[in-house]
Amino acid sequence: MPQKNTLSDQDLAVLSRGFEYLDQATVITSLDRQILGVNLKACELFGYQVSELVHKSTQIFYATIEEYERLGKERYNGLNKSTNTATNVQYTTKSGKSFVGKTYGGIVYDDNGNPSCIVTLISDVTTQVATEEALNRLHRITSSRQLSFEQRVHAVLELGTRLFGLPIGIFSKVTESEYVVQQAVHPENALEKGMTFDLAGTYCSHVYNANDVQGFNHVSNSSIACHPCFKNFGLEAYLGAPIFVDGGRFGTLNFSSPEPCRPFIQQDIELVKLFSAWVGHEIGRNSDISALEHAHKEMERIANTDDLTGLVNRRYIEVTLTQMIQHSAALEIPLCVAIIDFDRFKQVNDTYGHSIGDQTLKTHSELMQANCRGTDIYGRWGGEEFIAILPNTSLKSAVSSLERFRSKAESHIIDASIPELIVTASIGVTELRPDDNLDSIVNRADALLYLAKQNGRNQIQHEK
Ligand code: GH3
Ligand code: MG
Ligand code: MG
Repeated sequence: MPQKNTLSDQDLAVLSRGFEYLDQATVITSLDRQILGVNLKACELFGYQVSELVHKSTQIFYATIEEYERLGKERYNGLNKSTNTATNVQYTTKSGKSFVGKTYGGIVYDDNGNPSCIVTLISDVTTQVATEEALNRLHRITSSRQLSFEQRVHAVLELGTRLFGLPIGIFSKVTESEYVVQQAVHPENALEKGMTFDLAGTYCSHVYNANDVQGFNHVSNSSIACHPCFKNFGLEAYLGAPIFVDGGRFGTLNFSSPEPCRPFIQQDIELVKLFSAWVGHEIGRNSDISALEHAHKEMERIANTDDLTGLVNRRYIEVTLTQMIQHSAALEIPLCVAIIDFDRFKQVNDTYGHSIGDQTLKTHSELMQANCRGTDIYGRWGGEEFIAILPNTSLKSAVSSLERFRSKAESHIIDASIPELIVTASIGVTELRPDDNLDSIVNRADALLYLAKQNGRNQIQHEK
């Protein structure tokens, strides 16, 4: 059974005086949890007068009856000799606002060594707890490998809106004098990527001018009340930080609300800085990765391209045609392959010079490309021989497609200063057979090309 208070009025008066001006809320209670005395700080923290608390149960302080009972079982049970470890408790003020109080308690013993009362010290740690939670959450978001950069920025924006109590969160890019929304969280989804505003008319212009975090919790009562940003957007609360990427300014991360909010504290400033630093770091990392990817693709493109004509080269054709043969054979889709060889090309070189020969290869490659459907591939097989791969195409369609090129070539003037120079092409075209491989299909096309040459050139030969 909990014992009754055995503290004399005189001892209580002495004890109370000791705590009266302490800068921490202090509550003196009997062993059966009746309030005996409170100091000024406790009145301030809970919003009561002393007279409203004395002789009441300590239950008045707790956010819920469950919380009161939990503490009764764990700490104030008359058996627990030591209550001097700190614990976080959900309290409530007179006006009904709940807060987290870090709570230390100690039993006071009388001259005979019997417990006489409990002294409890309480401090509001709501913001510290929220900050710790925010940091844990930020860590979870930023270290998640499942989320993309956009998803992580979205999660950080949502975290900020909740933490600061500001419902609008924006990640912006600032270029010259413009402010461009990159990503946003908005209660009515009124903001989307690409929306652009004149920087001078935004709240972020203050961040850019100061080159640091700026916070206004009640804009119409602040130094920026007459600034165009308030007229433009009517937001009463704003907290924004610059985003730096590799030492340069990229944009801002900002949170805002049409309603005024509580004054910002150092923790808010530190957190918004931390969020923006993370976004900046991620942008830097992403652009390093995409620069590498770009370089890799560019190297691959160069490795697969013929210098003179810009068409794909033999290396690429061999790999791709092998795959296409397997794919088309497996799915029983038609595939046609043609070898194109220019007629009497040696004579072109001998008569007009090698560079006119090169120019011919270039202009005729352009003709091939102009003739090419999206899925067709024309490439340089070597020298003045080219190859055409026409996937999902019957032999008949392949012949008519190649015929368009052949007939253009036979009338194409390569160089306006040599109008008599016309270079025709001979073509052998064949269709995929079930057991084909790269060599067998190319050899068949080659044999048909040879036939075209023998037959007088400037023509297409195919299987009948
Ligand atoms: P045919 O009608 O039988 O095909 O006669 P052709 O003269 O075209 O045949 P041949 O294979 O004897 O000659 C091909 C010529 O193409 C030889 C070579 O000098 C020329 N050639 C190959 N590659 C290039 C090139 O990149 N640029 C130039 N200008 N000429 C090239
Ligand atoms: Mg040849
Ligand atoms: Mg030739």
